[in-house]
Amino acid sequence: MAYDFDLYVIGAGSGGVRAARFAAGFGAKVAVAESRYLGGTCVNVGCVPKKLLVYGAHFAEDFEQASGFGWSLDEAQFDWATLIANKDREINRLNGIYRNLLVNSGVTLHEGHAKIVDPHTVEINGERHSAKNILIATGGWPQIPEIPGHEHAISSNQAFFLKELPKRVLVVGGGYIAVEFAGIFHGLGAQTTLLYRGELFLRGFDGSVRKHLQEELTKRGMDLQFNADIERIDKQVDGSLKVTLKDGRQLEADCVFYATGRRPMLDNLGLENTGVRLDKKGFVEVDDLYQTAEPSILALGDVIGRVQLTPVALAEGMAVARRLFKPEQYRPVDYKMIPTAVFSLPNIGTVGLTEEEARDAGHEVQIFESRFRPMKLTLTECQERTLMKLVVDAQTDKVLGCHMVGPEAGEIVQGLAIALKAGATKRHFDETIGVHPTAAEEFVTLRTPVGG
Ligand code: FAD
Ligand code: NDP
Repeated sequence: MAYDFDLYVIGAGSGGVRAARFAAGFGAKVAVAESRYLGGTCVNVGCVPKKLLVYGAHFAEDFEQASGFGWSLDEAQFDWATLIANKDREINRLNGIYRNLLVNSGVTLHEGHAKIVDPHTVEINGERHSAKNILIATGGWPQIPEIPGHEHAISSNQAFFLKELPKRVLVVGGGYIAVEFAGIFHGLGAQTTLLYRGELFLRGFDGSVRKHLQEELTKRGMDLQFNADIERIDKQVDGSLKVTLKDGRQLEADCVFYATGRRPMLDNLGLENTGVRLDKKGFVEVDDLYQTAEPSILALGDVIGRVQLTPVALAEGMAVARRLFKPEQYRPVDYKMIPTAVFSLPNIGTVGLTEEEARDAGHEVQIFESRFRPMKLTLTECQERTLMKLVVDAQTDKVLGCHMVGPEAGEIVQGLAIALKAGATKRHFDETIGVHPTAAEEFVTLRTPVGG
């Protein structure tokens, strides 16, 4: 049977755009549907605007530290509206680039909400299009628990468009988004509390990293409240929010920001018209080839809930395009050793196993750790310390994990990830000449194990 398209992609986010562009480049007839914004979460309400706000927040400490280097500044003033307007302009520019990328690669763009009406047909803007394969790349959406008064809380989607910087912000959650946004609000001058239900935030990260970040954020004056959760939120007559915790305490805030994870975006997608199955957490279930239970339908990226990171969605998009239209170039995505950064202030950078994971997996481990005051701070009053840590297998000498908390940790860990992927041993690290004077050289001069 002749179809209108070889591949119909639903969602022009990180994964969908990558799959669509490459499939078209391999000669396939491809359409992509987008209901909201070209470039998806990452470009519009994720990585990109977030990093711009992190840069903005970082200036506060730059100004503070400048006096140690002889600079004197009048009191620095910050204007939220300018930052948001400039951020919006940049995102608009990127939306245009995404449009051109798609059109120039020969992809047909349909703007509107797409619904699957049968395993080979998508309906959008009242028209039906048939396709040999449909790719679900619809991403995720913030999830706020339905406690009384939850409608007064915002998520990351709204945080990027606030009209003004709230004076008092309560951030709920202990994952990437909570920690990053607490740093943004705090850096920009809001009185910031981070509230997390567990013992210590960033579950799943290395224990030393979590503890170190806790100490650094506390030093900076951020209010960290662990083992705490919200019972209800009430709006008061002056517009402020009264937050009642489960332990009975009450807090006041001008903004309550929930960052408590993301659900798959499947709203009105028409999955009931297909044999697509969901997993226990409600994400689209796929096999190793991103194939759903419906033979003509594939899915990738945040909607499959594996690793919710842009570079992972990009790699999955590439894998799908190659498998369908250039099988001789197909390589499966390797989910091991995925480097990642949390753009908190200071940053976290990490790749490979945490100490806890390495021990649980039965490795006999040697731990190398260094904590130091970065050189740039020696002329300043700032007491921030950097943490670097290597987790090494004592039997094979292989470096199992690298972890860092400190300036540019994400930049530094990207290079280390290549070394780990190539199977680097501690000896390789030791035999590598450092770049002096940098913080990164510390990773090749760690000589004495601290535990094992
Ligand atoms: P998305 O990028 O979410 O794209 C899905 C697209 O599908 C959207 O544009 C949506 O409008 C569209 N869509 C949905 N349903 C339909 C429909 N029925 N019809 C038509 N279109 C539809 N990752 C990192 O690697 N680094 C970071 O620093 C980082 N920071 C982040 C910060 C925040 C605040 C958030 C929320 C996420 C961040 N992420 C980061 C995660 C990253 O954004 C996601 O992993 C990535 O965007 C997933 O890509 P995707 O293609 O699966 O989905
Ligand atoms: P995460 O899954 O990272 O964290 C969710 C947090 O909310 C956890 O601390 C979790 O606690 C807590 N939580 C979950 N449910 C509740 C609840 N009902 N009440 C109170 N607390 C709750 O999600 P995020 O929303 O922070 O981010 C989503 C994903 O986006 C990330 O996992 C990441 O993959 C991606 N991302 C990546 C970034 C980057 O690369 N720099 C930046 C931002 C996002 P607990 O641990 O106890 O379960």
